[in-house]
Amino acid sequence: MIRPRRAIEQLGAYRLIREAPVRLNQNESPLDWPDEMKADVLARLARRPWHRYPPADGGLLREALGREAGVAPEMIAVTNGSNEAILAVIQAFATGRPVVLTAPGYSLSRTLVLVGGAEARPVMLREDFSLDAPAVLREIAASGAAMVYLTSPNNPTGNRFARRDLEAVLDGAQVPVVVDEAYVQFGGDSLVAALGRYPHLVVLRTFSKAFALAGARIGWVVAREEVVAAVSKTLPPYTVNLFAQEAALAALERGDLVAERVRLIVRERERVARALSRLEDVVPFPSETNFILFRTPWPAAMVFERLLGDGVLVRDVSGQPLLDRCLRVTIGTPEDNDRFLGALARALEDLR
Ligand code: PMP
Repeated sequence: MIRPRRAIEQLGAYRLIREAPVRLNQNESPLDWPDEMKADVLARLARRPWHRYPPADGGLLREALGREAGVAPEMIAVTNGSNEAILAVIQAFATGRPVVLTAPGYSLSRTLVLVGGAEARPVMLREDFSLDAPAVLREIAASGAAMVYLTSPNNPTGNRFARRDLEAVLDGAQVPVVVDEAYVQFGGDSLVAALGRYPHLVVLRTFSKAFALAGARIGWVVAREEVVAAVSKTLPPYTVNLFAQEAALAALERGDLVAERVRLIVRERERVARALSRLEDVVPFPSETNFILFRTPWPAAMVFERLLGDGVLVRDVSGQPLLDRCLRVTIGTPEDNDRFLGALARALEDLR
C-alpha cells in the first residue's frame, strides 16, 4: 500500500458543486468574451506553430503586462493561474518553513502552503476584518516565518486592507510579503507602485476575475527582478500554454471592455448590497470586490441548501473564524442577481 506524505493525506480534495442554473460561487466574471474576440484569438492561434513549445517566459505577454504595470518585463512572471503563482512563491521562499496568512482568508492559499511543504500560521483579522499588522509581525517573529501571504481586497471578507496596515507589515517584515491583488480592479489600490521602496514585496494578479478569462488559467507575479528570477526557477517551463498566451494578449488589447464590465459589476454590487440590507436580519458587509459576504440569522448550511434548491449556488464560508452564519455571493448579471435576491428572500421566509 503506497501512501502520500502526511500533509497530503490529511488534505480534503478541492471539490465544488458545479451544477446549478445560477452559479455565483467562484467569483468568476458573469460575462463571457464577445464572439468576435474569440474568433480573433482563434484566427491568431491558427497562424502559430502548435508543434513548438510556446515562449518559455510568456514572451509577448510578459512584455505587454510589463507595459500595463509600468515595470520592466524582468519584473513579471506569468503562471498557469495565480494559484500556481502562490505555490511557486511558497516553493521559492518557504518550503519547510512557516508561512503567515490571515484568518479569514483565501482558503485555497492555506492548502497551497501545505501542498508546498510549508506550515500555515494563521493570524486573525480584527472583528471589522481589518489587518492586525502588529499581530502579523509578532507571528513572523514567534514562528520564524519565511513568508507572509495577504489578499487585498480580501477573499472572502471583501474589504481591502488599509494602506497603512499593509505598509506596517512591509516596514516590519524582513521576509517576502506576498499581496494577492486578484480583485484589485473592483476597488483596491495596487501596491505595484510601491515595489521601488519594498524589495521584498511580491504582488500577484490574475486574468480570472476582471479579465473574464478564468477558463484560460493565467496569473502573473510582479516583483523585483531577483525575486521574479527565484520564483521563475520553481515554475515548470512553458507553464502558460500558447492558447492562454494569445487569449491574455487579446484581453489586454480590450482594456475598454474590461473597464466597462468592471463598472457594471461594481454598479450591480452596490445594488445587491442595498437589496440585501433591506432584507430583514440580513447583514451585507462592505465589498471592494466582485462578491459580497453576508450574514443571516440562520445556519449558513441551511440557507445554502435552500438557495441551491432554488437553482442558485453560492459559497458557505461559515467555517472560517469570525464568519459564523456567513455566505459569499459572486456578483452575476443583473438577471442572476435578481434570481439570487428572490431565492434568498424565499429561503429566509421559509426558515422563519
Ligand atoms: N487568489 C485569490 C485571492 C482568489 O480568490 C482566487 C480565485 N478564487 C485566486 C487567487 C485564484 O485565481 P486563478 O484563477 O488565477 O488561479
